[in-house]
Amino acid sequence: MMLVPCPSCGHRNVSEFRYVGESKSRPVPDQTTPEQWRRYLYFHQNPLGWTRETWYHGSGCRRYFSLERHTGSNQVRRVGGRS
Ligand SMILES: [Zn+2]
Repeated sequence: MMLVPCPSCGHRNVSEFRYVGESKSRPVPDQTTPEQWRRYLYFHQNPLGWTRETWYHGSGCRRYFSLERHTGSNQVRRVGGRS
């Protein structure tokens, strides 16, 4: 069982959450080419190690937040509030 630390609700079972994706900064719309948009939307780093991710607590407080997860061991650590 994997526990996810929600900033509002505390540690809860992962089944209450939805993985949104890797946290990355959104390109500036009027300065971005179609190719850059494609890379932002569809290409992901997916590294082995600690990654910053966005999660959604759909069965709880219904808030988005960031955490860091080790993609090899699924260890998680809290990094702050909403993303
Ligand atoms: Zn929550």
